[in-house]
Amino acid sequence: MAYDPENIFAKILRGEIPCSKVYEDDHVLAFNDIRPQAPIHVLVIPKGAYVSLDDLTERGTDEEVAALFKAVGKVARLTGATEGGYRILANIGENGHQEVPHFHVHIFGGKRLGHMLPKQ
Ligand code: 5GP
Repeated sequence: MAYDPENIFAKILRGEIPCSKVYEDDHVLAFNDIRPQAPIHVLVIPKGAYVSLDDLTERGTDEEVAALFKAVGKVARLTGATEGGYRILANIGENGHQEVPHFHVHIFGGKRLGHMLPKQ
């Protein structure tokens, strides 16, 4: 999938749309999800134009890849999600029901999250 620079997270990165920032460094931005599905629900995104994890790891530098995963851990600690445990999730492509085509890792926490996937 080609990267669409008009996606909503690209607009947040360019400062065209506000966000509730939780963490930022040279390669990563993390902000609260606008429709939280848990008391803690943060999105961690690379600043680079990557659609998915496979895209980031194929085209991104080792520094960008490492920065993303370090930031996920940092945000889990910053938000207190580490205290009771948490979940990370990345929806990718059509089967993964990805709505925003800029790679993002969800961090959920602050309550018991139940089964990993709804029982079919
Ligand atoms: P996914 O692509 O993994 O299905 O989910 C995209 C997530 O982005 C959703 O949880 C949705 O609530 C969140 N989202 C969509 N638009 C915005 C926005 O403008 N600001 C923020 N903070 N979150 C958004």
